[in-house]
Formats: sequence, C-alpha cells, structure tokens
Amino acid sequence: MHQQIRFFVNGFVIILIIMIALALIAFQINNNADSSVNKAVTNQLEKINLSQELSATSSKRTQLIQSFLLKKENALNDSDNQELKKLDHDFKQASEKLLPLLNAHEGEILLNVNRLNKQISDLNSQVLMLIENGSHNDASQVLLLEALPETDLLLLMISNLIDLQRSNSKDVLSLAYQTSDDNRLRFVLYAVFSILGCLLMATLAVYFGNKMSGQLEEMNDYLEEKVSERTESLLDTQKELLEDNNELTRLASTDPLTGLFNRTYMNDVLKREYSRYQRYRQIFGIIIIDVDHFKQVNDSHGHDVGDLILTQIAHQLKTAVRNSDFVGRWGGEEFLICCTTIETGDIEAIAENIRIAIAETEFGIIKKLTISLGCAIIQPQEEIGSLIKRSDIALYQAKNDGRNQTMVSAVNN
Ligand code: GH3
Ligand code: MG
Ligand code: MG
Repeated sequence: MHQQIRFFVNGFVIILIIMIALALIAFQINNNADSSVNKAVTNQLEKINLSQELSATSSKRTQLIQSFLLKKENALNDSDNQELKKLDHDFKQASEKLLPLLNAHEGEILLNVNRLNKQISDLNSQVLMLIENGSHNDASQVLLLEALPETDLLLLMISNLIDLQRSNSKDVLSLAYQTSDDNRLRFVLYAVFSILGCLLMATLAVYFGNKMSGQLEEMNDYLEEKVSERTESLLDTQKELLEDNNELTRLASTDPLTGLFNRTYMNDVLKREYSRYQRYRQIFGIIIIDVDHFKQVNDSHGHDVGDLILTQIAHQLKTAVRNSDFVGRWGGEEFLICCTTIETGDIEAIAENIRIAIAETEFGIIKKLTISLGCAIIQPQEEIGSLIKRSDIALYQAKNDGRNQTMVSAVNN
C-alpha cells in the first residue's frame, strides 16, 4: 500500500511538470503569434492614419489659400503664415513617417504624391505672391486652373493609397483571424495531449506500481515460506537434540542391567537431599541392601541367572518404596534406597517391609533368597559420607547377626 502511494505521488509530480511545460510552450507560441499579428495590425492602422493626415493637410492648405482669395486681402497675417508653414511641415513629417511603413508599390505612389505636393506648394507660393502684389485675378486663375486640379489629383492619389492600404488591411486582418484560429486549435490540441499524457502517465505509474508491489509481495511470501520452513526444520532438529539429550541423560543416570538409577546418579540424589535438609531441615534416610550369599547363586546357577535375579530384586525394591523415594544399584549385588522426607522412626519399618517382601518372593529355580539391610537417618551437622558409613556399618552388623536382618544405625555410630 505504502509503495502504491509512492508510485502515485511520483506519477503525479511527473504529470504536473509535463503539464506546466506544455502550458508554458503553448503560452509562448501564442504570445509570439499574437504579438506579430498585433504588430501587423498596428502598422496598417498607422499607415492609414498617416495617409489620412496627408490628405487632410493638403485639403486644409488649399482651403486656407481659397479663403485668402475670397477675403481679397493683399497680405497674409502672421498666424496665417504660421498655419501654412505648419501644414507644410505636417505634410512633410507624415510623409517621412509613412514611407518606411509602405511596401514597394505603395512607396512609389507616395513618392509621386510628394512630387505633386511640391508642385502644388510651388503653385501656392505663386498664388500668394500674386495676392501680395494685388493681382487677385491672376492669383485666382493660377489657383483655379493649376493648383486646384493638381490638389484634386493629389487627393485622388492619396485616396488610392488609402484604398490600397485598406485592401491590405483586410488581408492582414484575415491573417490575424486565421492566426488566432490556429492558436485556438493549437491550444485545444495541447490541452488534449496534456490530458492524454497525464492519463497515460497515471496509468503507467499505477500499472508499474501494482506490478512491482505484486512482485514484492510474491518475494515476501516466498521468503516467509522459506523462513517458516527453516524454522520448522530447526525446531525439529532442536526437538531431536532434546530427545537425544534426554536419552543420554537417562543412560548416564541408569544402571543398564536393572534399569535402576546408577551409583553416580544416587550420589547426586544424596547431595540434593542433603542440601534440602540443610535449608529446610527435612530429614532423609538411606537403606543399603546386600543380597545374602549371592556368590552361591552365581556359582550354582551361572552368571545369567544371577543377572536375572538381580533384575527381579530391583523390580521388587522399586515397587516396595514410595514414589518420592529413589532406588539405585549401589554396586554388584548391593542396592541403595534414599527415603526422602521421613520420620526418624519410620525407616526401620520401611526396611523391614522390603526385607519380608524379598524373603517371601519365589525366585524361579533358586526359589528363596534373603537380603540384609543397614539403615541410617541424617543427623545434625553430619556429612553424607558419614551417613553412608553408618549405614554400611549397620549392614555389616546385620550380616554378622546372621543375615536376613534389618539394622538401624545408632546416632553415635
Ligand atoms: P554375603 O552374604 O556375605 O554378602 O555373601 P556374598 O556371596 O553375597 O558376598 P560376596 O561379596 O562374596 O559375593 C558377591 C557376589 O556377587 C560376587 C559376584 O560374583 C556377584 N556379583 C556381583 N555383581 C554381579 C552381577 O552383576 N551379576 C551377577 N550375576 N553376579 C554379580
Ligand atoms: Mg556384597
Ligand atoms: Mg552379598
């Protein structure tokens, strides 16, 4: 999901940049076209204005001279003089401004207009001189017969020039409309391409985003599967190791013949019980058992029978004690029982029960068998070694007293 959002944002930023770039290009192109069209139109208007000014100044000048004649005055006053000079100057200025704006054909017409204007100007000067000399009739003759017809011709030429420019203006305007239409079309096309480009980019961004997300998910699933496979196999291996360890521990603590705890393990049991006694004062005791005249069993019936008897005795011992007690093979035909949490007086009864149970058991071909037992209860400040020793001494006494006996160690032994 996070990945998809990143693709969307990237796609959006790219689209935005493309849109801005396209808009800027379109704006620039439109601007250029607009300014060139504007320039052409302004040019045309300027040409027409200047031409009209030419026409207006020459008409005005002729009118002014006509009015002198009508007034029948002999001299021009200052303001009239200035007016005439100004009109000449305006004509000249308008013509100079107009010339660079015209094309070759129009320019030729203007040059003819200028030449004609010079002639009219000369005629006007002649008329004014005649007026000043009082020859009003001559002046009227020159004006009517020469200056006015030439002025008409001049106005006609200017009017032709204006017509020509008007028709040119139409071309320019239709070009301007055409350009504006083209620009509109270009704008629409850019807009359409922008939108299509945006849609394409968005679609590509989403498509590739989804594709990559899909691939990542697949890879993730694959990795998860692999990891869980490895974890399972590791757990299996661990389980096997644990089982092996348990088996090893069991083997290390078990006597192979009888299945009872071996001497090493029984020593650990005694140490554990001893520390419990030290911490909680929980009394425990031991019973050391030795099979009576076992050598004879081997000698009479063979070692295998001896082994079998030992296994049977082990089984009897195991069933005779409480679950909380530990039974181990102490060595050869000797066994040790650790009675945990016991009352001092109880150990003799437990040992006696065991002795009687064995004495009453039928052991196959040898039929009967007895055991001797030496018991001892842990005493304050006593070490384990001393406890075992006292139990051994008690056993020795039981043997000496004729076997098939239980002897409990006195505290001072
Ligand atoms: P006592 O009443 O004085 O204890 O006489 P005993 O014959 O039992 O004593 P002794 O120590 O002389 O003999 C013990 C015999 O136990 C000797 C040995 O062959 C036998 N024995 C010890 N371990 C095993 C064993 O694992 N299997 C068999 N079959 N016999 C064993
Ligand atoms: Mg023995
Ligand atoms: Mg013995």
